[in-house]
Amino acid sequence: MKVLVIGGGGREHAIVWALRRSTKINEVVCAPGNAGIAELARCVPMNVGSVGEVLSLANAERPELIVIGPELPLAVGAVDELTQHGFRVFGPTKAAARLETSKAFAKEFMQRHGIPTAAYARCTSLEEVRAALLRFKVPVVVKADGLAAGKGVVICQSHAEAAQTAEAMFSGALLGTTESELVLEEFLEGEEVSFFALCDGRTAVALASAQDHKRIGEGDTGPNTGGMGAYTSDGLLSAETGEWLLKYVAQRVVDGMAAEGTPFKGILFCGIMMVPQWDGATQPMVLEFNTRFGDPETQAILVRLETDIVDLFNAAIDGTADRLQVRMRPGASACVIAASGGYPGKYASGLTIAGMEAAKDADTVVFHSGTALKDGAVVTAGGRVLAVTSAAEEPADGKSALQVALGRAYGALGKISFEGMQYRRDIGWRALRDGL
Ligand code: AMP
Repeated sequence: MKVLVIGGGGREHAIVWALRRSTKINEVVCAPGNAGIAELARCVPMNVGSVGEVLSLANAERPELIVIGPELPLAVGAVDELTQHGFRVFGPTKAAARLETSKAFAKEFMQRHGIPTAAYARCTSLEEVRAALLRFKVPVVVKADGLAAGKGVVICQSHAEAAQTAEAMFSGALLGTTESELVLEEFLEGEEVSFFALCDGRTAVALASAQDHKRIGEGDTGPNTGGMGAYTSDGLLSAETGEWLLKYVAQRVVDGMAAEGTPFKGILFCGIMMVPQWDGATQPMVLEFNTRFGDPETQAILVRLETDIVDLFNAAIDGTADRLQVRMRPGASACVIAASGGYPGKYASGLTIAGMEAAKDADTVVFHSGTALKDGAVVTAGGRVLAVTSAAEEPADGKSALQVALGRAYGALGKISFEGMQYRRDIGWRALRDGL
């Protein structure tokens, strides 16, 4: 079977790596791919935001399965177009991807279907923002409606700051593009967790839960990034919480989308805040949905996936997820991002990366996030460069699986170097503090 994977970051490297382990696959093409993916797949240059380019590549390659990694092709309707032309595609339609591409749609959808989320207001002008702010305590969260590559959410400490932020989003000064709609949201306090479900239009199946680290600085400080690390662990969520999230969030999304005539197929990523209640209980509340695998959570999840990933994709496409058995290697995993110096601000590219071969072992994969080949050498080609990912089972020596996984990832990272390389040394700190 021949597969085409769309995308070229660490998430797509992990997807291609998992596909290569499948017994059902004999050819993988990836567009555009990167230097790491090129070791496992034939890479073809492509603009992932152009439906026309995606379709002409599919027509030229005639793959039996197409897997879409990033949000942009979903947002512009690549799945709809490819499906109309007879291709088998893993990912949601443009209408179903609105759960991610429009925060306003997602909030109203949650309200319609009784999915717990923070109080909010939709605003299309600064006047509406000023009027609505009177109903919110501070801090208050200002969110751009559309995709903003992780930069569209600002937590404001005063109403004046919120109004200024809204003004800068409307004018384009903040995000580079003018926003026509914003969402104001009640600030929620608690621990965040990401819950992933595989959906086939009718059924949601729990895949894994993970925690990621979005801030550049240790202790979760400093500006937001695409993600500096992630981890999974069997103890991250109790079985009851996992079941609750599946039943009252993921399955409700699938039922609601089906009832509205826009069935959801693909990966549903639920960003959850576990909000402590006055009686000591915890109420999970949805912060956001993504309609695809997250990066770098995917790397941490797929190193533990034992089920053939092709079975996952087929179940979602064919509507047979109710018969799917998802098996994960027991224990934990950790993914640490090696980023370019200066990231998330300005950074240099084209720097030679050393030590990657020595860093690999049976439990560790060095996924490439932003790399390229220059004169036969692997060089940096992005803010996030590598995603060093290790898995571990519960050892007998009293350490936790997560401690071992983190030790392996940091041990591997210690062998890798490029000029200006930076990484967080505290990935997983909350879980370690909580005894995981
Ligand atoms: P989002 O893209 O909506 O998930 O927002 C990005 C990040 O902003 C989340 O991962 C949270 O850390 C934070 N955030 C978003 N909404 C809220 C909220 N209502 N209360 C507190 N933090 C939030």
